[in-house]
Amino acid sequence: MERVEVTNVTVSQGVRMLFSLITPNESSFATLEEVPEYVNQATPYFVGLILLEMVLGWLKTDRPHIKINDFIMSLQAGMMSRLPQLVMRSLELSAYIYVWNNFRMLELPWDSAWTWWLAFFGVDMGYYWFHRFVHEINVLWAAHQVHHSSEYYNLSTALRQSVAQQFSSWVFYLPLALVVPPSVFAVHVQFNLLYQFWIHTELVKDLGPLEWILNTPSHHRVHHGRNPYCIDKNYGGILIIWDRMFGTFAPESDKVIYGLTHPINTFEIWTVEFRYYPYLWQRFWEADGISNKLSVIFKGPGWTPGKPRLGDIADIPEITGEEKPYDPAWSPVMQVYVVLHFLLLLGVYENLLTNQAIFSEMSVLLMTTYVLLSLTALGFLIDQRANAAMWEMLRCFLLMALYRFGYIRHLELLALPIEVFVLISAIYWTPQSVNQQINKVKKQN
Ligand SMILES: [Zn+2]
Ligand SMILES: [Zn+2]
Repeated sequence: MERVEVTNVTVSQGVRMLFSLITPNESSFATLEEVPEYVNQATPYFVGLILLEMVLGWLKTDRPHIKINDFIMSLQAGMMSRLPQLVMRSLELSAYIYVWNNFRMLELPWDSAWTWWLAFFGVDMGYYWFHRFVHEINVLWAAHQVHHSSEYYNLSTALRQSVAQQFSSWVFYLPLALVVPPSVFAVHVQFNLLYQFWIHTELVKDLGPLEWILNTPSHHRVHHGRNPYCIDKNYGGILIIWDRMFGTFAPESDKVIYGLTHPINTFEIWTVEFRYYPYLWQRFWEADGISNKLSVIFKGPGWTPGKPRLGDIADIPEITGEEKPYDPAWSPVMQVYVVLHFLLLLGVYENLLTNQAIFSEMSVLLMTTYVLLSLTALGFLIDQRANAAMWEMLRCFLLMALYRFGYIRHLELLALPIEVFVLISAIYWTPQSVNQQINKVKKQN
């Protein structure tokens, strides 16, 4: 496999890129190959800010403001959303390059600050319309609802990205491909995503005059709300001016209750990612006549026959302000267990994504299988599903095999304790899993 050169960002750039504070000078590149993988290199900065938010949040309110189940769910969705890049270049970039190669009308200079700023505004406006469409068209909402499924609002919520969403976003950036080189676009599409990380927090209240121009924590809290005044509002990425211009802006007023209007009450990744599609299919078949069927697909998620295109705001469940997020009880020991295994998973995942170019195809395949199996099994455990033990046992045995055959390595000092921990885990789940199967057969009889 070909060795890909990685352009590394400095620590200062790493921090600044999260706030879109990188100058044109340091982020203009002649070719696509030179453009750093900003998002892939952002992990340590994400972790740093998440820890900072945890500490400050705790100091401020005297209690942790995150829940382990919700937190892990968000990180799992973030991991899943970046797995397709193991096998393909992002659709956003591929489509962009295709249009640039075949249909460009003008070649703006890649090293001009004017081009850089045009791309900055162009990508942000493209994002606004993309984001508005995924909220206003039911079949696209099926993917985007993942991001809104958390009933909490903290930095981890930002990472809860949908894996299917990239199949709709690419269209909205194509007009830029007529004049702006791909190497400039590739920078801004990453900055746009990165900026939206820090605004997912309740700790920043009001930023004064900046609230006029920028998308801020306050504006984006409204976007994540299920109160009537929050629905279909504040779609902006970096700038809020688009919402002000196109009539979708709402300032924060009443206490925001976060999440979907109909919470899904699960922490299991496959359900969160894909449950909306069968639901849509069912509504499609149940609708009378072709016009209603098409409306189910292409009008807003809240639409029902006889209602306006985006539905009637009076139809959504009432908000009392006393809503409690879904938080099923589970033992502290199990919480520690899941967190430890999740940390192991994060290590393997990070290694896979940063070094996939130098790994053998077999390694990539096995590590990906382990990642997917882990996302499934840990979700089943948190959700306390009937067959969780069996999946968890399989996962632990696979992990042991990966260690044994050298597909996964850890820091020398930790290698032995980790292997012992995984072995004990596998041994623990084996009889549990047999028991669960026996109980299942008993129930069926
Ligand atoms: Zn949204
Ligand atoms: Zn968000």
